[in-house]
Amino acid sequence: MAIRAILILGAIMLTCGSAGLLLVRLTSPMLRGVGYLGGAFAAGSLGSVLMLGAGHVHPQFSITIADLSILGSFVLLHVAVLDIAERESTLPIFGFVLLGIQASVDIFLILGSGSGRIRVLAAGLLIAAQAAQTCSVLFPQARLRVRVPTTFVGGLLVLTAVLNSTRSLALIFGYFADPQVFYVVAAGTFASFVAVALGLGFGVFWMSTTALTNGLEQMASTDPLTRTFNRRVFLRWCDRERERNVEKGAPFSILMIDFDHFKQINDTFGHHTGDEVLISAVEHMQNAIRGIDVLGRWGGEEFAVLLPGATADAASLVAERLRANVARMRLPEAPEARVDQPIVRMTVSVGVATYMNADDTIQQLLKRADAALYEAKAAGRNRVVVGSRTPQPQQWVATPVSY
Ligand code: GH3
Ligand code: MG
Ligand code: MG
Repeated sequence: MAIRAILILGAIMLTCGSAGLLLVRLTSPMLRGVGYLGGAFAAGSLGSVLMLGAGHVHPQFSITIADLSILGSFVLLHVAVLDIAERESTLPIFGFVLLGIQASVDIFLILGSGSGRIRVLAAGLLIAAQAAQTCSVLFPQARLRVRVPTTFVGGLLVLTAVLNSTRSLALIFGYFADPQVFYVVAAGTFASFVAVALGLGFGVFWMSTTALTNGLEQMASTDPLTRTFNRRVFLRWCDRERERNVEKGAPFSILMIDFDHFKQINDTFGHHTGDEVLISAVEHMQNAIRGIDVLGRWGGEEFAVLLPGATADAASLVAERLRANVARMRLPEAPEARVDQPIVRMTVSVGVATYMNADDTIQQLLKRADAALYEAKAAGRNRVVVGSRTPQPQQWVATPVSY
């Protein structure tokens, strides 16, 4: 009676969950893995219904399909995890092998006269194996930046694997010989499936939404061409640094960088090469700064660097290193490729400004860095100018330079 109640409850819950998840999949196609998760719920629901019907419909057939459905739901859950992890292939080859073993065991039992306990043993071990494989995909997924939901799902799967393998081993060693104990264990197993399905459904959905949110946040904060921060996020970092200065007096500086005669690069080599130069130059600029420094794209071919903790002297040293790094750059980078391709070289002008005191604002700081950049341009480009306290804005005059 208890088993019937659990199976009815499981079937209702999994059917509703599956319908809900499939609806989410249809309305929010950007949420990865949700469709497969809905499929896993549907397979679990089918398993529960077939277990219920085992007394009425052909029992061997019902239980065989039920076993395959329940294992299939774990295989589909694995596919959902692969999809969220953005794996190139979501084909569950190991899962197919497990399903093949389960089908063989069931066919062997239908044809032969083996005990039903062999089926329970096989089902437990195969589910444990599938859960273990999903864990092996989940735990190295720290780079997904969805660590908390991943750990939650992984923990539940470890619990599933441990419960199922322990149950199977206990069966082998004859701990459930008493039919009453066997019945209680079966009821507990089905109840644990219902509880784990709820937890896994919630956890995988959580993983999917977190992965999507992280992706969108990254898209909203970075420039798609150079992968540096955009102006909005760069300014946020500047504000944070100003707050730190007001609280703790930590100095900081800003570099404003503009590529010299970039129009000529585009006009001579094409816009596509211009883009490649920008990407490559950003790498060279990154190599000149520390991990805590923030490089942002100010707009067009203008970039800005926030240097936390840097005084004017330290900032001008970094600016000089950055300028020299870009000036040394040659495209294409590989010497052998340069034989039949024109060599592209590039220089930048850099304006440096350092935060003064609590009366100073980020806008004033940026203005000073900009004014210093204008000075560097006017003085002949490919140079660093450290800004003064009071800026004297002026336009620079473009002079032709040959490349
Ligand atoms: P100057 O030394 O005076 O700075 O000369 P400049 O030619 O670099 O002049 P300016 O900074 O005003 O021009 C910027 C040029 O950079 C114009 C624009 O076509 C090009 N540019 C801006 N963004 C991109 C980009 O994303 N890709 C490419 N290829 N070119 C860009
Ligand atoms: Mg320029
Ligand atoms: Mg410019």
